[in-house]
Amino acid sequence: MKTLLPTSTAGSLPKPSWLAEPETLWSPWKLAGDELIAAKQDALRVALQEQSLAGTDIVSDGEQTRQHFVTTFIEHLNGVDFANRKTVKIRDRYDASVPVVVSEVSRQKPVFVEDAKFLRQQTKQPIKWALPGPMTMVDTLYDDHYHSREKLAWEFAKILNQEAKELEAVGVDIIQFDEPAFNVFFEEVNDWGIACLERAIEGLKCETAVHICYGYGIKANTDWKKTLGSEWRQYEEIFPKLQASNIDIISLECHNSHVPMELMELVRGKKIMVGAIDVATNTIETPEEVATTLREALKYVDADKLYPCTNCGMAPLSREVARGKLQALSAGAEIIRNELATSND
Ligand SMILES: [Zn+2]
Repeated sequence: MKTLLPTSTAGSLPKPSWLAEPETLWSPWKLAGDELIAAKQDALRVALQEQSLAGTDIVSDGEQTRQHFVTTFIEHLNGVDFANRKTVKIRDRYDASVPVVVSEVSRQKPVFVEDAKFLRQQTKQPIKWALPGPMTMVDTLYDDHYHSREKLAWEFAKILNQEAKELEAVGVDIIQFDEPAFNVFFEEVNDWGIACLERAIEGLKCETAVHICYGYGIKANTDWKKTLGSEWRQYEEIFPKLQASNIDIISLECHNSHVPMELMELVRGKKIMVGAIDVATNTIETPEEVATTLREALKYVDADKLYPCTNCGMAPLSREVARGKLQALSAGAEIIRNELATSND
C-alpha cells in the first residue's frame, strides 16, 4: 500500500431502497432471479462510487451482495437445513431463529467469487472482501450433527479457505473475516478460535484481516454494552494470541467506544484498522474528531501500520449519513497525513 493511512470501511454500506428496505438490518431483497443479480451489481457500482467520491482508499462492495453477513454464506453450503429452524442465543445476547446443521457441511459452489470478480472489473483501487469467521458462523447456527463447536468451526474454516483462495485468484487484495464472537467467548478463542482462523487463511498470499467489534447499533447490542462497565477490556483476553498469529490486519472498534486504546500495544507489529467512525449514531464526526482518534492510536500503532476505518458496518444508517461519515474519515486521515509529513521535514 503506497498511501500512508489508507482508509476503508469495516464492511457494509446502506442499500438503495430499490434493492432492500433502507435503514434496516438484514432486510429481504425486493427483487428476485436475474433482476436481483443485475440490481445487486448496480448497487455495488453505486457503493463503489460513494467510496471513490469520498476518497476511500481500500474499497469494497459495501456488502450490497449479501443480506446477512453470516447466513448468506451459509445458504450456499450443504448440510444446513434452513426450513426447520431452531432458536438459539446469539453471542449470549439475543434469541434468534437459526438454521440447523443436519449433516456434513461442504460448499456447493463458490459463494462470492463472481461478485468479487465484478468488483475487481470496476476499479483499480485495492479491494477488500469480507467473509464470516468460523467461530461466528458456528454461533449463528444450531448444530445437530457435529455436537462440537470446535469441530464444526474447523469444517467451516476449510470451506472458508476454499472460498478465500478463489477470491484471491480473482484479484481481492485483502480478505477480512468478521469475528464479533471473538469478543465474547475468550476461552474458546484462545483454545481453537484463532487456530480455525489460521486454517481459513492457510496458503493465502493476499493480505488477511480479522474484524472484531461490539456489533451494529441495534438494541440487543447497546443493552449488552451497558453491562460491560466503563472500560471494555475484552480485547485484552485475545490480543496476545492474535499478535502471535499469521493474521496481517486487525480491525477494531475505537471511536466513542469504551475500549482503552492502550490495549493496541498488545498487538504492536500488526496492521490495525482503527475504528474512527461510530456507526451507532447518526451524528457525523468532524474531521478533527477523526484525527483525534487517529492521533491517540498513533501512540500504540506505527504510522505505516495504521489504517483508518469505521467501527463496524454502516448498513443501518441513511445514505446521507453514511456518505458524510466516509468523507469525515478521509478528511481526518488527511489531517494526520499532513501532520506526519510536517514532523518528518
Ligand atoms: Zn462489526
